[in-house]
Amino acid sequence: MGAFDWFWKALGAQSERNDRKSRQTVSVADDRVAELERLSDTELVAAARAITRDGEISDRSEFLAILQVAASRTLDMRPFSVQSQAVLRMLEGDVIQMATGEGKTLVGAMTATGFALTGRRVHAITVNDYLARRDAEWMRPLVEFFGLTVSAVTEKLSADERRKAYRADVVYAPVNELGFDLLRDNQVTDRAQMVRTPADVALIDEADSVLVDEALVPLVLAGSVAGEQTTGEITAAVSGLREHEHYTIDDDHRNVFLTDAGAHRLERELGIDSLYADEHIGTTLVRVNLALHAKALLIRDIHYLVEDGKVALIDASRGRVADLQRWPDGLQAAVEAKEGLTVTDGGRILDQITLQALMGRYPQLCGMTGTAVEAVDQLREFYDLRVSVIERNRPLQRIDEDDRVYARLEDKNAALVERIAEIHATGQPILVGTHDVAESEFLAEELGKRGIELNVLNAKNDEEEAGIIAEAGERGRVTVSTQMAGRGTDIRLGEGVAELGGLAVIGTSRHRTSRLDNQLRGRAGRQGDPGMSVFYLSLEDDLIETGGADTAVSAQPDGDGLLDNRKVRDFVNHCQRVTENQLLTIHSQTWKYNRLLADQRKIIDTRRDDLLDTDKAVAELRERAPERAEELADVDAQVLEQAAREIMLFHLDDEWAEHLATMDDVRESIHLRAVAKETPIDEFHRIAVREFKDLAQRAVDKSVETFRTARIDAEGVHLGDDGLARPSATWTYMVSDNPLAGGGSGALATMERFFS
Ligand code: ADP
Ligand code: MG
Repeated sequence: MGAFDWFWKALGAQSERNDRKSRQTVSVADDRVAELERLSDTELVAAARAITRDGEISDRSEFLAILQVAASRTLDMRPFSVQSQAVLRMLEGDVIQMATGEGKTLVGAMTATGFALTGRRVHAITVNDYLARRDAEWMRPLVEFFGLTVSAVTEKLSADERRKAYRADVVYAPVNELGFDLLRDNQVTDRAQMVRTPADVALIDEADSVLVDEALVPLVLAGSVAGEQTTGEITAAVSGLREHEHYTIDDDHRNVFLTDAGAHRLERELGIDSLYADEHIGTTLVRVNLALHAKALLIRDIHYLVEDGKVALIDASRGRVADLQRWPDGLQAAVEAKEGLTVTDGGRILDQITLQALMGRYPQLCGMTGTAVEAVDQLREFYDLRVSVIERNRPLQRIDEDDRVYARLEDKNAALVERIAEIHATGQPILVGTHDVAESEFLAEELGKRGIELNVLNAKNDEEEAGIIAEAGERGRVTVSTQMAGRGTDIRLGEGVAELGGLAVIGTSRHRTSRLDNQLRGRAGRQGDPGMSVFYLSLEDDLIETGGADTAVSAQPDGDGLLDNRKVRDFVNHCQRVTENQLLTIHSQTWKYNRLLADQRKIIDTRRDDLLDTDKAVAELRERAPERAEELADVDAQVLEQAAREIMLFHLDDEWAEHLATMDDVRESIHLRAVAKETPIDEFHRIAVREFKDLAQRAVDKSVETFRTARIDAEGVHLGDDGLARPSATWTYMVSDNPLAGGGSGALATMERFFS
């Protein structure tokens, strides 16, 4: 506890210092506005250019004053002093904490304009496509006012459109698109095919969500290869197996094991001697395991849907079809086979990167969120970012009630429904935040029985839901929403709603982190509006059962099962802190594994750049295989140069993909192997360094071999002849291999490590 106190004090002291300095700068700015208002647009822009000429903002007060005037003229919003202060802190590279509804979109655009005027390209990162489009359009007049360009990169853009969009000074984009474009650009063999123009600054909205909650989500690029697939024969044989007799499932439903009886039965049906014979270990056994996993652990309509002849994954925490997600390739094919669908191409993972590694590639980061203070540890440890707390423009009027803790889930649910009905009867609008879709549906049904109409949002369509959530403050509305739904949308109060007490926010349980709780609460009480928030809990909630496993609490419930008692509420907070600490530990550990790979990939990138931009490839191959170079003397020099480049890049990329796959296997098996000897992470590092050391040399050796044998003529090199062609098609997806996100993705994660 001592260290913790110290820490919060240190944080407070620091932000106070920042505050005082920034406030002074801002108040000088506020005084200058009147004078600057007399300038014409052209004069104002010239003034801005004059103080940003040397790649620095030489007069910050003047700069903020100019932004105030420009924002008023272009967007009809006059930035509040707190917004100017936030801009200052972000220009310094901080993550600012600024409550919901305080106007972070404008703050972000002003900051981006500041960076862009000093010659730095900015990626303004959003959590989804809809927000990238919305913010780019909304803020466009301000950015363009200064003669700068602004764009949005979204999923639907073609390569040409992307290339153009990336050249803008300020690029709004969802984080996954940025990552996918990076991965795709790292496969090209000609610089002109790249779509990205590198940026100097990443300015991240909902920074804690991207930098902490989703930090370990890998973005994956896969390519089609007609690969190993589960055959119909194996699927048929496996479909006849029975649980307990032929296979067993472990307690947490992550793994399935064949029994001896199961193995014998399959051997009989497949007409083979032993599944575990050498010739079957890497082939038949792998397919059997995939088919068995598909049969035993993945349940239709829970883990996936079958739609239009295709398998669509369900993301349990969002309850939505996860468009961008696939299972690891063999598993996807196995599920397709199980459902009797056309089996899609087997694929191979070409490359992958976590959001955290992606963010680590920007020379400068800054960000904004309503809930940064609770993520101070992670932001500092993983990104070396500091947090500045920005005051509200108007004081908070929201009333946060004490948690209502019930002994049993049933009692909680009954009380919850009762409370919603009660508030609803007064006309006060209600936003109910649920954990998952199942809970949303349960509430919809219960409230339906009482004739209460409601909107249920499950983060299925960001744009549509933004429209619905925008109206959640209308009189008499009841909106039920999961955590992810409608993020970034402002909830304004309808006519007469302020008098009724504003928006009421009700959480159906506390989240795994207090940050998530506060994000939900923050929906109410924007810009000094009245509002209220309350959480309903039961001792049977997941958070309490896992977080409270080591502690006992005794209290006497009242007639409705309510435990109205401070000790109980403290206990709830304790449970949440336990869970938060667990998440932090997992994050640190997982990052230790990823970090080395992130560093190694930078080395690969440098080598790639070299091969792309110089004639090193042809020079090296000439030197290593002079007799072959002699044979190719007739080939045009430029054609040969490009052929050499393609050969070298092919093998470099191929070895890198292999390296990633190997290290995934190592990571999975290391815990089994290294128990007594070394710590797993040391062993992992040792192997990673060893494998990587030979990678470059192996790639060169193989390139020399290919150079010697491949057909090279006036058209260039024909890598396809030797089965070395790059995949004809690639696709991208996110793996929910994310211990922090929770929600039924464990099986996927295990599978991937096991079989990749
Ligand atoms: P946040 O992202 O912080 O939750 P938004 O950027 O969505 O907030 O802004 C919330 C609302 O406040 C928007 O409707 C926006 O138009 C309005 N707003 C922001 N700044 C100002 C301002 N300086 N003057 C007037 N309205 C503003
Ligand atoms: Mg916002």
